[in-house]
Amino acid sequence: MTTVGILGGGQLARMMALAGARLGLRFSVMDTSADACAGQFAPLVVGDYRDRDALAAFASGIDIATFDFENVPAGAAQWLSERVPMFPNPRALATSQDRLAEKRLFVELGIPVPAFIAVDSRDGLDTAVAELGTPCILKTRRLGYDGKGQFRIRDAADADAAWAALGGQAAAGGLILEAFVPFERELSVVAVRSRDGEFRAWPLTENWHVDGVLSASLAPADVEPALAGRAEAHARALAEALDYVGVFALELFCRDGGLLADELAPRVHNSGHWTIEGAECSQFENHLRAVLGLPLGATRPLGRSCMLNWIGGMPDPRPVLAEPGGSWHDYGKSAREGRKVGHATLRADGDAALAGALERVGAALGREAQVEPVVRRLRQAPPAAAARATLQ
Ligand code: AMP
Repeated sequence: MTTVGILGGGQLARMMALAGARLGLRFSVMDTSADACAGQFAPLVVGDYRDRDALAAFASGIDIATFDFENVPAGAAQWLSERVPMFPNPRALATSQDRLAEKRLFVELGIPVPAFIAVDSRDGLDTAVAELGTPCILKTRRLGYDGKGQFRIRDAADADAAWAALGGQAAAGGLILEAFVPFERELSVVAVRSRDGEFRAWPLTENWHVDGVLSASLAPADVEPALAGRAEAHARALAEALDYVGVFALELFCRDGGLLADELAPRVHNSGHWTIEGAECSQFENHLRAVLGLPLGATRPLGRSCMLNWIGGMPDPRPVLAEPGGSWHDYGKSAREGRKVGHATLRADGDAALAGALERVGAALGREAQVEPVVRRLRQAPPAAAARATLQ
C-alpha cells in the first residue's frame, strides 16, 4: 500500500486524494491550518513547513511526496526531498516561486513574454515605469497568486500608490514590473510529464478571470491548430528544461495571433478541473500516475466542457445537477469572501447544447455575468468543430 504525502491540504490535495482512492492509494497531507479541506479525506499533519519536527513526522508516514501549492519554502522542499522521493523536483518549484527566475527561463527557452524589469527601489520603479511606459503592472516576485501581490499602474502618478502597496516587499522577495498586455484571450496549457520523460497535454483551455481570480474555463478552446501547437511546444520545452515530473499549467496571453507567457504553476491547476469529467484521464489522476511512475492516461477530451468557479460561497446545486452533463464539486470549506469554495462543470457533445446549459444555469443562479463570455464564445465558434485543436 503506497502512501502519497501532499504538502498543502486545500481543494487540489482533496481532489487528488479522491482521484487516487480508486487507484488504491493512501494519502497524508500537511498544512499550516487545522481545517484544511483535504483533511476531511486523509490524515492531516498540522504544522509550519519550516518546523523540522512536524516535517519529519510527515515524512515518516509517507512513501513519496508532492505538492498542492507552490509556496512551500524551498528549504523545506529540499529537506524533504533528501528523505523521500519528491515530484516535481525542488528546482522546478524554486524556479516557479520566483516570477523573475521564471521569466528569465521563458526568455532563455525562446518563449515570448511581456516586457519586464526587476525593481528593487523606489527610484528603480520610476526608471522602470519610464522605460516600459503605462499601463503596466507591479508584482511581487514571490508569494503572489490569484491576482494578489499586484498593482496596476495606469500612469506615472500611480507609482507612489504602487510603492505604498508593495514597496515593503522589495527587500523581502523583490518586485517585477511588467508591461500591461491588452490581450484578446487568456489560455492555459495543462500538461503532464512522466518520470521517463513522456509528455502529454490536454487540449488548450480558454480562461476568464475576474479581479485576477479564475471565473470560468472552456475546453477545448477554439484556436487555430498552429497556435495550440506552439502553446504545447512551449509547455514541453519548459517541462524538459526543468526535468519536470507531474502535472503543471502554463498560463498564456493571446494577442494578435501571438502568445505571451504569463506564468508556470508547478501543480495541478484550477484551469484543469474540467478534465475530471471532460477528459479520458483527469489532471489529478495523471499527476499521481506520473509521480508514481505509472503509465500516463489519455488526455483526449470527451465533448466540450465549461468549468465555473464558485467564489465566496456555494450556490444552489440543483440547477447544475438537473443538467445531463452537470457535475458539482463542493470543497467542504466554510464560506468566506474571495475564497474558492467549489466549482461546477457542464459538459456537452455540441457547442449549442453547452451554451444552452450555461444559459439555464446562469439564469437560475443569477450568474448571468459569469456565463456570458463563455456563451458568447460558444455562439461565435465556427460550425466546423472538427477544425478545433485537440492536442492529444
Ligand atoms: P498572474 O498572477 O500573473 O497570473 O495574474 C493574474 C491575472 O492578472 C492574469 O490572469 C491576468 O488576467 C491579469 N494580468 C497579469 N499580468 C498581466 C499583464 N502583464 N497584462 C495584462 N493582464 C495581466
